[in-house]
Amino acid sequence: MIPASFEYAVARDVADAIQLLGSSGGEGKVLAGGQSLIPLMKFRLAQPGLLVDINRVKGLSDIRENGELRIGALVREADLDMNAIVRERYPILVDTTRVIADPLVRNMATIGGNLAHADPANDHPATMLALRASVVARGPKGERVIPIDEFFVDTFTTVLAPDEILTEIRIPKRPAGGGGAYLKLERKVGDFAIAGVAAMVVMDEKGRIATASIGVTNAGPTAIRARKAEDILRGQSPDDKTIAAAAAAAAGESKPWSDLRGPAEYKLDVIRVLTQRAIRKAVARATGGK
Ligand SMILES: Cc1cc2nc3c(=O)[nH]c(=O)nc-3n(C[C@H](O)[C@H](O)[C@H](O)COP(=O)(O)OP(=O)(O)OC[C@H]3O[C@@H](n4cnc5c(N)ncnc54)[C@H](O)[C@@H]3O)c2cc1C
Repeated sequence: MIPASFEYAVARDVADAIQLLGSSGGEGKVLAGGQSLIPLMKFRLAQPGLLVDINRVKGLSDIRENGELRIGALVREADLDMNAIVRERYPILVDTTRVIADPLVRNMATIGGNLAHADPANDHPATMLALRASVVARGPKGERVIPIDEFFVDTFTTVLAPDEILTEIRIPKRPAGGGGAYLKLERKVGDFAIAGVAAMVVMDEKGRIATASIGVTNAGPTAIRARKAEDILRGQSPDDKTIAAAAAAAAGESKPWSDLRGPAEYKLDVIRVLTQRAIRKAVARATGGK
């Protein structure tokens, strides 16, 4: 398939990218890894008048931990996977990036693009909900920090304005007693999720769950937070009964649709089972296990 014709501009820096987007009269689109946008353009489901290529913009590809974990929007999935801080301290991110597509896609795809694309089947949104992340956006009026709960509006829609660029993802530093995991069921390796569940817990000194946060992939028009499940876990021991109740609640809060990946009833049960497993894995990691 051949895309409709479009203009193409390489941004020198973030300010240049914002200016280019602003000059396009709402017709411009940021080009990052191109792994979602280019296929959409080839099918003519997206027909931007201008592509603003941010791949040569410096300062958007760093991963730093300084009070919080800061991940530049242009960090590629492959680099996220290879990063020493991420590997040692944020295994939930390694879980997530490794189940995205295949190595070829992961060499190009960016974490910022994965979030900005706002596909409910993408894997990072649920993980970012569980991690209580924020995203940083820059536009003509300056910079704003957006809590992840407020970022996703609808399928393929975020609160980003057409002339705003997502520059960074900020994740609270992993607390003592904290652990997380992301689990996904896919039809075959490299496929989008039938469903996926991200769980983060912080354990107290008595072995109870002090706080929990749970994000679900493919559970509605956007990734969702399973707040009832979080409430059930808070203050409780991670025993089978509590985890089963939380998992049932997470399924109850999800609204997947029937499609070629299975009927909704099946997906609800997948979410229930994955939630149990993700909570158990998060608790194991929080208490020193793998
Ligand atoms: C074969 C295949 C399988 C895949 N499987 C999975 C999977 O299993 N799980 C999964 O999560 N994803 C999957 N993907 C999607 C992949 O992870 C995409 O790369 C990702 O969704 C978008 O990242 P990108 O950097 O390629 O963004 P692009 O395709 O360049 O852009 C995507 C959208 O985000 C916008 N955008 C990008 N960066 C920014 C920014 N910094 N600021 C503002 N807007 C921005 C663009 O304008 C565009 O609208 C798959 C892709 C392919 C091709």
